[in-house]
Amino acid sequence: MPVTSPYPLVTIEHALNTILAHSPILGTEQVSLTRALGRVLAEDVIAPAAVPPFPAAAKDGYAVIAADKAGRRRIIGEQLAGRLSDLRVEPGTAVRITTGAALPKGADAVVMVEYTSERDGWVEIEKEVRAGDDVRPVGQDIEAGQRVLERGSTLGPAEVGLLAAVGLSAVQVHCQPRVAILSTGDELREPGQPLQPGQIYDANRFSLAAAVELAGGVPRSLGIALDSLDALQHALAKALAENDVVVTSGGVSMGKLDLLKPILEARGQVHFGRVIMKPGKPVTFATVDQKPIFALPGFPVSALVSFELFVRPALRQMQGDLDWPRPRLTVRLAHAVQHDAHRTEYQRARVYVEKGRFLAQITGAQGSGRLLSLVGANALLELPPGNGFLPADSEVTALLLQPIGM
Ligand code: AMP
Ligand code: MG
Repeated sequence: MPVTSPYPLVTIEHALNTILAHSPILGTEQVSLTRALGRVLAEDVIAPAAVPPFPAAAKDGYAVIAADKAGRRRIIGEQLAGRLSDLRVEPGTAVRITTGAALPKGADAVVMVEYTSERDGWVEIEKEVRAGDDVRPVGQDIEAGQRVLERGSTLGPAEVGLLAAVGLSAVQVHCQPRVAILSTGDELREPGQPLQPGQIYDANRFSLAAAVELAGGVPRSLGIALDSLDALQHALAKALAENDVVVTSGGVSMGKLDLLKPILEARGQVHFGRVIMKPGKPVTFATVDQKPIFALPGFPVSALVSFELFVRPALRQMQGDLDWPRPRLTVRLAHAVQHDAHRTEYQRARVYVEKGRFLAQITGAQGSGRLLSLVGANALLELPPGNGFLPADSEVTALLLQPIGM
């Protein structure tokens, strides 16, 4: 009799829906603008004031009255950005002005310095002027009371700048999930230490911590746990005490010392223990005290691919991100590809543009332990079950992980 897992194989879609149903949105906190990059807005942002707040010169030049027919105008002074004067432009006069300065009283247009010539306190205007020319009216960019950013959007450089531009120094965002990261396995060693026979370096704790950070979470390393009930139970209790999410790697397949599933069963609820996919089939999802726990497979590629498909969506949702899915793009294979005929397989690839078309090139051998297959990959090709062979030029779906280069 072959040994079979007691856990039914569930679909990727079922797995993801189960995870999202158990990944609650976290509370909110206020952060200053200097801490806001990458955070997700917990509220709509309404501009308290208009931008610009006064009619402003869009160019360096002269503030004039457009309807003034005078060829030459007498210069009565200058208006600089940030310095208000009491000048009033009357017919036949002009005020020298710099970009960003308030339009002086009486004026209704600015003439770029390139269309003028100045001599002895007089300026010649060498083009036709219409009211409003090169003046930025009040609220041209942003009106007072306008909704400028939406709840659920992620703050990048432009968003942070926009908050500052409307005068806000702090903003309400969702809390970041604190994510405990635990490696399991008697064979694992800390990088930097000498290896004994049979040992390998712990790669997953570092790759997963980096992935958590990129997903907006706060990684908390819990070190390496040995393959014993005691060590794993202890580590899990510690992980749960101070964190919102737990991510482990290793110890979930069919080996004698794959102990995590029974431990999770004893402490909480295992929602699924196997998914019809490659790599990552033994990926396990549980909740303990209502906290999501991801027990990822140990092979470094399996761990990162299942993180991408299952953990990242949970972390984004918990932060209130309403727009977390990665873009999916139809691409053409640059060469023939062998794939799993029975399970959806995620092959690591580089998507690039050639003659206006999106092509995909697999990043070498696709073994679950070969982290090099993820190095330089900007996409996962999502290859559904089929006959196991896709000829060159086949159309496939790419899940984009990073921007596409040339
Ligand atoms: P397991 O899921 O524990 O059976 O592990 C599957 C494979 O992944 C084994 O070859 C392990 O040695 C390897 N592995 C497990 N954890 C790690 C880790 N943290 N870093 C690198 N390789 C690992
Ligand atoms: Mg193991």
